[in-house]
Amino acid sequence: MNLPNVIGIKNIGSLLTISANDNCVKTLQDMNNLSIINDAIMLFDVSIQWIGTSAEFENVSSQFSVTEWIDAKGKVVMPGFVDSHTHTVFAGNRSNEFAQRLQGVSYQQIAASGGGILTTVNGVRTASQEQIVTNAYSLLQSAISFGTTTMEIKSGYGLSFDAEMKLLYSIREVASISPMNIVSTFMGAHDFPEEYKHNHSGYVSLVCEEMIPAVSEQHLATFCDVFTDKGYYTLEETETILSKGLEYGLLPKMHADELATVHATELACEIGAFSADHLLHVSQKGVEALSQSKRTVATLLPGTAYTLRLPYAPARTLIDNGAMVALATDCNPGSCFTENMQTILSFACMNMKMSIEESIVASTLHGAKALGLERSKGSLEIGKDADFLVLQTTNYADIVYHFGTNLVEQTWIGGKKHFQKQLQ
Ligand SMILES: [Zn+2]
Repeated sequence: MNLPNVIGIKNIGSLLTISANDNCVKTLQDMNNLSIINDAIMLFDVSIQWIGTSAEFENVSSQFSVTEWIDAKGKVVMPGFVDSHTHTVFAGNRSNEFAQRLQGVSYQQIAASGGGILTTVNGVRTASQEQIVTNAYSLLQSAISFGTTTMEIKSGYGLSFDAEMKLLYSIREVASISPMNIVSTFMGAHDFPEEYKHNHSGYVSLVCEEMIPAVSEQHLATFCDVFTDKGYYTLEETETILSKGLEYGLLPKMHADELATVHATELACEIGAFSADHLLHVSQKGVEALSQSKRTVATLLPGTAYTLRLPYAPARTLIDNGAMVALATDCNPGSCFTENMQTILSFACMNMKMSIEESIVASTLHGAKALGLERSKGSLEIGKDADFLVLQTTNYADIVYHFGTNLVEQTWIGGKKHFQKQLQ
């Protein structure tokens, strides 16, 4: 009889399995329960084959052929981070604008002088696909070193047919060369381009009649996302775009109520969006809608509030009311330039009053749910993908406590090691 060949990891001090209930999502009560197994062993190939304590392994060891043993030396093993909201394909650098803002120049003044998002749009339109891919690849490698194993990436800095397609081709290309699990989102409705500044309906038609059919035909994205806010897309325009997306098989997501209360969150829940993101100005009705939704995840992006010095989203209210809360970086060149999920967990605990455990569930299992991947990602359970981290600590609380450092010692994706920290 041929035994399955597996890799084993032993002497795991604490294995955070984050194992889920039937919905693959932690409920209000158990977001603080990481389903920890102490003195654990985990066996895997591309997916997880067995999990249990060292003592339990004695009884099953004859059923496996372990080709290699990794010694975790009592440290923590946990699922890789699922960063479910990023804008990692872009060109150019806006550090000058960031410095100006620190000097008191407003975002509006920068935008009026041709800066802001237009800087990145111009950068993308003139850059080659190769330049965009090179830039994204280095961010992805860095994200892997900080423990991200699945990342969603949005287009949205092109805002013309050709430039949006170039960004989506770049996502496809970087996904083919990076070990990161990548989910692609079409976000032609990120803003209105200069040439359609006074013709919003013309641009909505371009998105619906030309971009969405092309994206769908070439299988370039799983999701369609819209920036629904004051001065951006109205509820009606959002509904038009997301309905057209659905017609073409693109699943809905929304940037909702970031700058003002426009009741975007309620619409997200009504149409069954996979997530409503940002939520800095979510209304009480929006909180209620998220609490009742079995589909729509409340994705919070505290790095953006930090960078823009905005008030944080009401994470405590959302969690206490039973909403499914996820955390993501929002990695982008304008309002939050980080690919490090550990930093985001720190912001969530320090500035949004989340517990360390809640921040871990939000950045793994709930991130997976926001991408519709909760059956294969986000927790360590038999049959799920072997995407996990070995931390450089015996106590998971250090991720938040020992902030500003990289606590990831190893990153494994699909059963292969893609990052190993050089220890002193
Ligand atoms: Zn965003």
